[in-house]
Amino acid sequence: DTTIISVGELLVEFVSHRKGCALRELAEFTGPYASGAPAICIDQAARMGARTKIFGGLGADNFGNVLTDRLQASGVDTSAVLRLEDKTTGVAFVSYFDDGTRTFIFHLNDTAADAIAETPFVLPEGALLLHVSGASLGNANLRVAIESIASQVLARGGKISCDPNARAELMRDQAGRDMLFRMMEHSSYLFPSTSDLEFLFPGKSEEQSIDQMRSYGADILALKRGSQGALIISGEDRFEFCGHKVQEVDPTGAGDAFCGTFLAMITQGHSPESAGRYANAAGALAVTRRGPMEGNSDSESIEQLLKLKS
Ligand code: ADP
Repeated sequence: DTTIISVGELLVEFVSHRKGCALRELAEFTGPYASGAPAICIDQAARMGARTKIFGGLGADNFGNVLTDRLQASGVDTSAVLRLEDKTTGVAFVSYFDDGTRTFIFHLNDTAADAIAETPFVLPEGALLLHVSGASLGNANLRVAIESIASQVLARGGKISCDPNARAELMRDQAGRDMLFRMMEHSSYLFPSTSDLEFLFPGKSEEQSIDQMRSYGADILALKRGSQGALIISGEDRFEFCGHKVQEVDPTGAGDAFCGTFLAMITQGHSPESAGRYANAAGALAVTRRGPMEGNSDSESIEQLLKLKS
């Protein structure tokens, strides 16, 4: 049995209550919701029945409990998560506007998350797959931890997967970008979104960007196309999935739910086509609930949506 590992920021998120709510109208926010790209992805993989483990840092506070309670309920092994008395849990405030754009206030500086740079992580026994989110690579401490775990995983014959998640505000510094490219070059599975391709390869067409990404040598590339669905490329095979018609309430976490589902299915021996079909449905379900991982799903609810469509 393969263990899927994710490493990085764990945080709570407060979401603006109605579209167009200004960030200063704090009374309109709901939360705290468990969040952080590595957490959302691993939560979904666990809900799909995969063996999972997460490494990150939390304050010894109630916001930290929001994360551990939720992840444990989904079946994630949180035994390596640090709980630090003298540090806080990361917090994000997210506000959505009617045109689909988002604004964020992050309180992530000097949080417990940073402590994982100095703490060794003992790899679980058995086959390993490390999932890396580019969103973590804007933070120098997380880079140190992820780089070290990635090389241990590769040395053990394990695999890496990477979601570039290349948002400009998180990828300002060159070290983060350089490491993202290094991770992509070592990945067996790549999960770019259309906006990642535009950010990473400005001015290139989608096909050119895909070719560029495929030259890094991954076995499977999954392109996430938001409401348009997804494209899976595995060797010479291409599988296209249209987006499910759902009501989008909160787009945060769709990409992470997609990755978690895909990786869980692949490590459980399913085909790339089947993994893509389930991941595309999981991404659609993810956007129907407010809160970053509140729309995570199990195979039963995914199969219900797939049945509706056929
Ligand atoms: P990211 O969150 O990484 O930017 P996307 O927004 O592309 O990724 O979402 C990931 C996947 O979730 C998509 O490939 C698609 O399968 C599904 N998805 C996302 N938004 C919608 C939507 N509005 N309707 C249907 N499916 C969606």
